[in-house]
Amino acid sequence: MKIKKGDKILIVKGKDRGKSGKIARALPNKLMVVIEGLNLRKKTIKPKRAGEKGRIVSVAWPMRVENVMIVCDACNKPTRVGYRSQGKKKIRYCKKCKATV
Ligand SMILES: [Zn+2]
Repeated sequence: MKIKKGDKILIVKGKDRGKSGKIARALPNKLMVVIEGLNLRKKTIKPKRAGEKGRIVSVAWPMRVENVMIVCDACNKPTRVGYRSQGKKKIRYCKKCKATV
């Protein structure tokens, strides 16, 4: 998966389309990502003890990785990334401006 934690992204599909955010968590096995404060869903938390009330909280829900695009730091545009190798390391780069991302 080309997207990892901390990446700046733009949502290109779904109800939060057009919003940008930061990757809070990447789930490579599921090809999904969690974006800080976006794609929120209400979740009910059940009371743990007698006398306690259940609560409803908003949680950032994972979304499919193809629904987001990386925003390049250098050109500030949503872009696709490629890989080039530098020695033994694989470096990601922006396909628009060729800067390392
Ligand atoms: Zn760029």
